Amino acid sequence: MSIEEQIAENITRIRAHIVEAAERGGRDPSEITLVAVSKTRPVEMIEMAYAAGVKDFGENRVQEAEGKIAAFRPEGVRWHMIGHLQSNKAQKVARLFDTVHSIDSLHLAQTLNRIVEQTQRKRLPILLEVNVAGETSKAGIAIAETLPLARQLAELQGIELKGLMTVAPLVEEPEEVRPVFRELRQLRDQIREEFPHCEWLSMGMTDDYAVAIEEGATIIRIGRAIFGERDYKGATT
Ligand SMILES: *Cc1c(COP(=O)(O)O)cnc(C)c1O
Repeated sequence: MSIEEQIAENITRIRAHIVEAAERGGRDPSEITLVAVSKTRPVEMIEMAYAAGVKDFGENRVQEAEGKIAAFRPEGVRWHMIGHLQSNKAQKVARLFDTVHSIDSLHLAQTLNRIVEQTQRKRLPILLEVNVAGETSKAGIAIAETLPLARQLAELQGIELKGLMTVAPLVEEPEEVRPVFRELRQLRDQIREEFPHCEWLSMGMTDDYAVAIEEGATIIRIGRAIFGERDYKGATT
């Protein structure tokens, strides 16, 4: 099988799993967006996923993403920034990406907001990254900080808080992270009472996306299940 066929087959299989998981969760599969995480992959593989119907792509490093986005931005494609972000990259992020999942400080949000207000036509949708499990090795804000930060963001006109994102802990069995996803969903529900546009739940990756969907994910971020194992030479996460 060619790489192209393999990627198309992987995407078909994932889409079937999305439908099944949505059914188990009593949900409509059409409310779930598949983001293909293309970090470390060449543009050719991104084009193959696009040919198989994927419209959303995720990258975690601005420098790597820059060239790929310049090379591949057909009509309808959306680029998602999913990695940890320094404020000094905000200019490029605002120019390159359609959505940022990894906002984890007021300072970063303010910097991005200022740039969007100065340069851009439309409000940039963002998500707050929440470190639900409180892992010291991980980026993201604490659960208790999330609503206060959401209130501060409400004053910024260049960005719009659209949802919450988390990276669940690495575990043996996906069932083990169900409480993490459930907690993020409850937090989103709470914030949405005050901020109705805070609707998105970006959670679930290759090993745990079915559980994430059962618990309410509206965006899943999948790399390896689409493109195969990553070659870590030179890559960060
Ligand atoms: C790499 C990455 C993913 C995708 O991980 P896979 O295990 O390859 O599906 C999702 N989210 C973030 C933030 C990532 O860095």
